[in-house]
Amino acid sequence: MEETRLRDCKTDIKIALPEDVKFIIKKLRESGHEAYAVGGCVRDSIIGRKPDDWDITTDALPGEIKSCFKRTVDTGIEHGTVTVILKDRDKGSLSGYEVTTYRIDGEYKDGRHPKEVTFTPSLSEDLKRRDFTVNAMAYNEDTGLVDEFGGIEDLTHRIIRCVGDPDDRFNEDALRILRAVRFAAQLGFSVEAGTKEAISRHSENLRNVSKERIQVELTKLICSDNPYRLSEIGETGMGRYICEGFEDIDLARFAELSVRLKLRACGNEKKYLRYALLLMGSEKKSSKAFLKSLKLDNDTVKKASILAEELEKPLEGDRYLIKKTVQRIGRELFYDLIELKQGLHANMPEFYRESCGSEDIERISALIKDIDTKNEPIFLKELAVTGSDLMACGVKAGPEIGLILNSMMEEVLKRPEHNDREYLLKSFCEEKEKQR
Ligand code: ATP
Ligand code: MG
Repeated sequence: MEETRLRDCKTDIKIALPEDVKFIIKKLRESGHEAYAVGGCVRDSIIGRKPDDWDITTDALPGEIKSCFKRTVDTGIEHGTVTVILKDRDKGSLSGYEVTTYRIDGEYKDGRHPKEVTFTPSLSEDLKRRDFTVNAMAYNEDTGLVDEFGGIEDLTHRIIRCVGDPDDRFNEDALRILRAVRFAAQLGFSVEAGTKEAISRHSENLRNVSKERIQVELTKLICSDNPYRLSEIGETGMGRYICEGFEDIDLARFAELSVRLKLRACGNEKKYLRYALLLMGSEKKSSKAFLKSLKLDNDTVKKASILAEELEKPLEGDRYLIKKTVQRIGRELFYDLIELKQGLHANMPEFYRESCGSEDIERISALIKDIDTKNEPIFLKELAVTGSDLMACGVKAGPEIGLILNSMMEEVLKRPEHNDREYLLKSFCEEKEKQR
């Protein structure tokens, strides 16, 4: 078995593998294969971060992986990846684990995956194709930690270093240039000198990488514990190849905002807040173009561009006008806006006065909470009258219905106690009578 020939097996390092991962490794090994947890989950476990997901690498071919498990999905079978689906014994919920055959990658070109891959029976070959030393370690309970490229040493010194020659590695796949900065930011590491020099030499190659792949890394960077390190993208000269409009972004200001607001890691679902801060101050048209050219989903494009624009406007402090803003941008974004403005006001008062307005943000925050505690209606769906009610009163289906409902809504925004079906219909009928 190749395992016995592996250099640098460390048996003193123990990683607490989740039961599902143990089960998958055991099953593959019982069928005569090698299997290890690999990459990010090993790195994160060693430094005490909670892994996002657990990837498994094996010498079993995709067909062999599939035959070991009841439920699998062919996630990327041509690249050797099969997702094994396991059911949680207690909760009954399903979890997926990517199991990938040891492989040697060809060139990546533009796509998400290498153009061609070759399967190999050698774990060493599989680890060698990985980007950074800290991402090129494998672990199982029998062999211990396999660390052939000095991953532990670099983790100890908090360094991101390419596996092998950085020029070769960046030529194979230029996304690694951006990944180096992303991992350094996420882990609070520095980029090793040789790797850093090669980044500047190869930054132009990022031009050939798809925007989808760039976006994933950029998003992880700005949602990390150290978003201020986005400025390193400017320093390394890769800015112009990130996406349309990236060079117009004031990276130094974003870095300052990140530090002063003490931004910490946030989940992917909150990425729109980070993009909004990044784009604050830019024109609406260019915000949208920037977000779209990064191929972000429509929801993020919408939320981030609305927030970026609203952050710069003073908020109206009157009860009715607050409700009008909530109507326009939605309740969730309004609360996000208040929170961002409160953060800016408290931590950067001068910047706040210059860029956001002079409103008393604490008073507005108290008002919206009061409005919501009292359940005061803001949206048409909360109005006590519906289109059918109006038709029952003789209004013909058509645009008139909308106009009437909107005018009732206007009244209710000002006088929430009037949100009563009978009252509103009676006033409407009386008004109609008067006009005859
Ligand atoms: P994260 O916590 O962001 O998921 P990760 O290390 O798991 O970090 P992934 O992008 O999920 O990162 O990739 C999983 C593993 O696959 C990496 O740890 C690395 O070993 C390998 N890998 C991913 N992308 C590349 C690449 N472009 N070039 C070389 N190896 C890569
Ligand atoms: Mg991962």
